[in-house]
Amino acid sequence: MRRTLIAGNWKMNGDFSANRSLLSEIKAGLPASLNCDVLVCPPAPYLAQCAELLAGTAVMWGAQDVSVHAQGAYTGEISAAMLADCGSKYVIVGHSERRAYHAESDELVAQKALHLQKSGLLPIVCVGETLEQRESGQTNQVVAAQLNAVLDVLGDMAAMVVAYEPVWAIGTGKTATPQMAQDVHQFLRQQMAARNAAVADKVQILYGGSMKPENAAELLAMPDIDGGLIGGAALKSQDFLSIIAAA
Ligand code: PEP
Repeated sequence: MRRTLIAGNWKMNGDFSANRSLLSEIKAGLPASLNCDVLVCPPAPYLAQCAELLAGTAVMWGAQDVSVHAQGAYTGEISAAMLADCGSKYVIVGHSERRAYHAESDELVAQKALHLQKSGLLPIVCVGETLEQRESGQTNQVVAAQLNAVLDVLGDMAAMVVAYEPVWAIGTGKTATPQMAQDVHQFLRQQMAARNAAVADKVQILYGGSMKPENAAELLAMPDIDGGLIGGAALKSQDFLSIIAAA
């Protein structure tokens, strides 16, 4: 049985004061016994703040990206070891915004995922098609190429999470229907099963793309949807808590 993971991607939002309020509202609203894992991914400068405010709670924290290098003269980069040092457990890689605005290739994403695993961190590998690719029937081909590039280099398929995030659904208010999302999730699991069926059965596949309180329960009820990677709704405590409650 796969445990549900509800992960908030704060993107480039927040400050010390807003983060403090958001986290204290989330902590106060969490049910006493959680039946899912909860993760927040703040901008890197606030990881230490999350570590301080979330220590001793059930809420985990992680990062939104990582350098592909281990250390050295890479101005502006943040290494996997540094993220681990800040208590991160998971790190998002290959988000469509990084692929689009920073020209991240499937190969680079794969190297980042490998680098995270070597530092004991769990990559959340994002895959997803654009609207144009969906409309021209290329969804499976695109997500398979994105996922397989990572699986080809990863040592351990068990130590990763996949997030299916159709690009056309991110921050747009448009959500894939539960069946559309399920079809892609099932396809992604089949891609992993072709390598190792037992492990594929255990890998969490999150859905991301305008997940909100109104659609979370339906999406999370699908057999291959094991959680959510949530952008906008993760910045509103009541919405994030409602999604956690739906899990
Ligand atoms: C995301 O960017 O990971 C995301 C899913 O954003 P939103 O929930 O705002 O669509």
